[in-house]
Amino acid sequence: MTGNTRIYLDYNASAPLLPEAREAMIAALDLVGNPSSVHREGREARHVLEIARADVAAMIGARPVDIVFCSGGTESVAMAIRGAPVASILHSAVEHDAVRAAAEQTGLAVESLAVDAEGRLDLIALSEALERAPKPALVSLMFANNETGVLQPVAEAASLARAHDALVHCDAVQAPGRVALSVKDLDVDFLSLSAHKIGGPKGAGALWLRPGRMLAPLIAGGGQESFRRSGTEAVAAIAGFGAAARCVPETLADMARVVALRDRIEAECRAHRPDVFIAGAGASRLPNVTALSMPGIAAETQVMRFDLEGIAISAGSACSSGKVRQSHVLSAMGIGKEQAGEIVRISLGRGTTEREIARFIAVWKHVCARSRGREKAA
Ligand code: PLP
Repeated sequence: MTGNTRIYLDYNASAPLLPEAREAMIAALDLVGNPSSVHREGREARHVLEIARADVAAMIGARPVDIVFCSGGTESVAMAIRGAPVASILHSAVEHDAVRAAAEQTGLAVESLAVDAEGRLDLIALSEALERAPKPALVSLMFANNETGVLQPVAEAASLARAHDALVHCDAVQAPGRVALSVKDLDVDFLSLSAHKIGGPKGAGALWLRPGRMLAPLIAGGGQESFRRSGTEAVAAIAGFGAAARCVPETLADMARVVALRDRIEAECRAHRPDVFIAGAGASRLPNVTALSMPGIAAETQVMRFDLEGIAISAGSACSSGKVRQSHVLSAMGIGKEQAGEIVRISLGRGTTEREIARFIAVWKHVCARSRGREKAA
């Protein structure tokens, strides 16, 4: 619950700030030094930065030295895609716009690869594309989809890529705290993370580079972050990121409870309306999210109705203007325009309670009944 009465079910857009992250940030705001300065004040800021680096590295089983801090998931993705020394880019058709737009910006040959009806990358399509793509290629595949939660076969894709000397980038922004994530299991070259999806602040993120990998820096200047991303680091935001990363094992341990709540939403809505559709339900998914249709009601209308009832959910991928576009993720899965237009995303997290889910389901049935009433009248 946020505030006194609101129910927040949009964790995939941004998770509420954890108290641990808030405390770390408030403490770091009082650090006067620049972390690149050699005096004591500078060293104090550097110390906070390096603690956070160790915590973010530990979250993904990496070495601190391979973590580059930046402004968030979007910048982290852009650093990898625009900085990798490659001749072409292959990405799945369900990647976040951060990947799709960065790939277009490179001006290189870009291919968007098909997914199956559950939203998983077609590995045969990847294999064929690797054969014809200008070499070396960069394969960019997300760990988990932000709209449906569907998990991608990253390790399998990476092994195909290796056979073609391709590099691999994984957008893992939605994964930490929801599923186990370790770079040791993935065999990728670059991995993107964002603080605000794990209970840290908005405006901090990181790129992990496989030991020995280098990138052309997106932002050059003072040579911060070992010349990989210039600009004075946002010490307070990064301190919050580190604190949130430390909480990830606890958040992950809570997922058995969260998945039961998510499954309850799906079961009760389906029992009420058997024609409800759940995108990606046949695939392995993140435990905290469902992309659920309410037959006969446009997603935007659902979002507004739920908002009026005090519940925050989201429709498709909302862009910065707040407008809802047709979801490229759902359309890549072969979901028709009409059905896709009735799918909303409900995403849960550590703060979500059983009571909130019971209330959500009651409101869902109420909104649904109103649509049925209109159907009958029509
Ligand atoms: N990648 C994925 C899968 C996301 O869900 C998001 C955020 O929605 C991003 C990248 C961008 O992250 P940020 O908001 O930190 O720029």
